Amino acid sequence: MAHILHLEPQAYPMLPEQSTSTLPRAAQNGSAVRILQHFVDGGFVDAVSGATFSDVSPVDGRIIAQVAEGSAEDVDRAVQAARRALRGPWGAMGTNARCDLLAKVADRIMERFDEFLDAEIADTGKPVGWACNVDIPRGAANFRIFANLVRNLPTECFPMDTADGTGALNYALRSPVGVVGVICPWNLPLLLMTWKVAPALACGNTVVVKPSEETPATATLLAEVMNEVGVPAGVYNVVHGFGPRAAGEAITTHPDINAITFTGESRTGQAIMRAAADNVKHLSFELGGKNPAIVFADADFDAAVAGTVRSVFSNCGQVCLCSERVYVERPIFDRFVAALKAEAERQVLGDPRQEGTTMGPLISRGHRDKVLSYYNLARQEGATVVTGGGVPDLGPDFERGAFVEPTIWTGLPESARCVREEIFGPVCHIQPFDTEEEAIAMANNSVYGLCAAIWTTNLTRAHRVAAHMECGIVWVNTWFLRDLRTSFGGVKLSGVGREGGAHSVEFYTELKNICIKL
Ligand code: NAD
Repeated sequence: MAHILHLEPQAYPMLPEQSTSTLPRAAQNGSAVRILQHFVDGGFVDAVSGATFSDVSPVDGRIIAQVAEGSAEDVDRAVQAARRALRGPWGAMGTNARCDLLAKVADRIMERFDEFLDAEIADTGKPVGWACNVDIPRGAANFRIFANLVRNLPTECFPMDTADGTGALNYALRSPVGVVGVICPWNLPLLLMTWKVAPALACGNTVVVKPSEETPATATLLAEVMNEVGVPAGVYNVVHGFGPRAAGEAITTHPDINAITFTGESRTGQAIMRAAADNVKHLSFELGGKNPAIVFADADFDAAVAGTVRSVFSNCGQVCLCSERVYVERPIFDRFVAALKAEAERQVLGDPRQEGTTMGPLISRGHRDKVLSYYNLARQEGATVVTGGGVPDLGPDFERGAFVEPTIWTGLPESARCVREEIFGPVCHIQPFDTEEEAIAMANNSVYGLCAAIWTTNLTRAHRVAAHMECGIVWVNTWFLRDLRTSFGGVKLSGVGREGGAHSVEFYTELKNICIKL
């Protein structure tokens, strides 16, 4: 593979061995640790308070960076810079010039591919193959796609009749919403951040980004790219830190932030919605899921197995779109369970930088505790553990990592907590069904509604079942196949609003109708 992992140390400010800085030094192998600062008004800065926190590798528990820990004061500085940029060079720049710059951001991400790859793998522990094919190229593609989209945006125009016969002309102008707060999760850090930052900037907004405290590196690297290609100071700001009573919450309550786009857990979305109410901010939420996959007996069996393996175990089950509930038509149930079991047991766990590794660790030991609590709960709820259910023995190199076994359950009632609650790990429950109606009813019986996967060769059935799914995205005979012009989002507790293509433009712009009497 071309993109092999070598961190350019000069990509980040380094703490020298004999530094007198107050920032702590890493205790690993006597080597220096990276410092990840905020990026405000075009420059890298420490937290106003001087506080930092440790960025810990989920692979082996090493400290990989010390990160500036943001507070309301840091957020305020970033918001002021973002507001100045809006009134200054960014606001004055034409759409084409703006989109040209964003296309350069895409090019520069690809030029610095290996650094982004290395930073993302270090923070998340995701396998190199996945990061290489998904995270980093999609991070670049987001800028390219939204730059092109906004450059070519049409506007609506309605000529109208008037009583005096002269008529009038209505047309719409779009302007940026203003300063957008971007609050991100850890599972696809660069991909999901740029999915929001790219359209926000293309539409002329400025942003204050808070990456997840678990994965601060690629947002910082992107800041360097912004400077390298000449994006004006204050357009893209990054404040690192935590959520509640910290930088995240400060974004949600800041009166000069006009809109918040958030991806993360549903209950965090609830907290943000409450916090943002006083200032009536625009909100876009991409939240949790407990997604169903429905496999009909007429499906292409091998394709359905391969697709379900991907949809259950990709990124160690830490994709909001992963299937945690698999419904299989009874005639093929036993064969399907056996095939999925075999595939789960073929997963190669270990060093994410080894090309053969198919599954890295979970994001943290804290998240591993949560997933393992569900592994235990499933047994208490009466599950048959088809495979997995514990912690793999990967030897001393990984004993401080956050690995869990890929796991499959059968035999749980639909009321079981393990079937109802989002786990966000490499695990699914497989349930048999006898009729299409039963499968639809079980799939929809959830407080979530993000996506569904349907496996069938019966085209009529595919259309019929897809139309009945209570969710925002349905895949038929595939999974996670994304055309970025299409809408993305969920219903029920899985989200508010849609992003993607023109839907992103709707969120990141204000529409003004101008009516001219002729
Ligand atoms: P999380 O909600 O714990 O954290 C997400 C971000 O919100 C982090 O940056 C965190 O610091 C911040 N935050 C936490 N509390 C906050 C508060 N009170 N105010 C402001 N900010 C706050 O989510 P996570 O654990 O990072 O990510 C996993 C979750 O994200 C899963 O539920 C997954 O389904 C969901 N997710 C959804 C999508 C989607 O598109 N629907 C995509 C990816 C992940």
